Amino acid sequence: MNTTDENAPATPVKRRIMSGMRPTGRLHIGHLFGALSQWVEFSKNDDVFFEVADLHALTTAYERTETLRDNVREIVLDWLAAGVDPERSTIYVQSHVPEISELHLLLSMIVPISWLERVPTFKDQIAALGPEIATYGFLGYPLMQVCDIAIMRANTVPVGKDQVSHLELGREIVRRFNRLYAPVLVEPQPTLSEFPDVPGTDGRKMSKSYNNQIDIADDEATTTKKVRSMITDPQKVRRHDPGNPDICPVFSLHRVVNAARVPWIDENCRTGALGCVDCKAEAAERLNAFMAPVRERRAAIDPAGVEAILEDGGMRARAVARDTLADVKSAMNLP
Ligand code: SF4
Repeated sequence: MNTTDENAPATPVKRRIMSGMRPTGRLHIGHLFGALSQWVEFSKNDDVFFEVADLHALTTAYERTETLRDNVREIVLDWLAAGVDPERSTIYVQSHVPEISELHLLLSMIVPISWLERVPTFKDQIAALGPEIATYGFLGYPLMQVCDIAIMRANTVPVGKDQVSHLELGREIVRRFNRLYAPVLVEPQPTLSEFPDVPGTDGRKMSKSYNNQIDIADDEATTTKKVRSMITDPQKVRRHDPGNPDICPVFSLHRVVNAARVPWIDENCRTGALGCVDCKAEAAERLNAFMAPVRERRAAIDPAGVEAILEDGGMRARAVARDTLADVKSAMNLP
């Protein structure tokens, strides 16, 4: 008797997703509405690994490590506040998984220097940040990213459009290894992420380096003050002047936290019936309402709990990493 039901839906295979962030300080609401909300969704159905990339931080800030430890804790607090669930995801610090560094060394033997030099951000970043970051470690940082992914045998990596070429380099390195030795590494696939645009208070991309960010950790009063300071359509000088919401960062914020009211705000901005002071007050109120549970979660987290989460995540990540590294070494005939 055939006991299998051919019409039964196949059990969905979980994707293994790896992503990470550099611990460079507190995260802002752009991260919250972007990558972090996506991470929370991933962790509901996928097998997820989230890495605090402290070694990556050294590639551009090797002279400023005094705040590194605090930054690691802060970033994890922000992740947890955003709703990333440590029970459903493996949260770990890159340097706590030394197998990543060992894999980096092994793969560095097979990666032509020209592959790393042609990464578009290599020359751009040196031009932007100065020649002092042109180190051996900085040249190899795309390889370290490959190792972060490959060591966890992740088959899926969330990337923005501008990072697809980075991942393609990673896939090329994995293919080269598998061809040279044995097919033990997984070639990761990109999952493209489109995030809502949340500009900074000055209308440019929200970024700590522009000092135009609204942090996840900001309290209600600070958030309100920052929203009040946002630039608007410069042509709308007086209350009843007609405005253009399409070029106004406050309107972009409404789109994210006040979607139901967007058509009304659009119309009343254009006719001049809505003034910027009132419009900002409503945006601040909606943003604060959205942030209330995030702030509550952040305040409730015990710092000792963060240590425990990182210890547990580190152990889980190392268990996977050890297996991968053993296969890699065996494939390379290392004794
Ligand atoms: S009314 Fe609102 S959307 Fe229009 S310009 Fe002022 S702040 Fe921007």
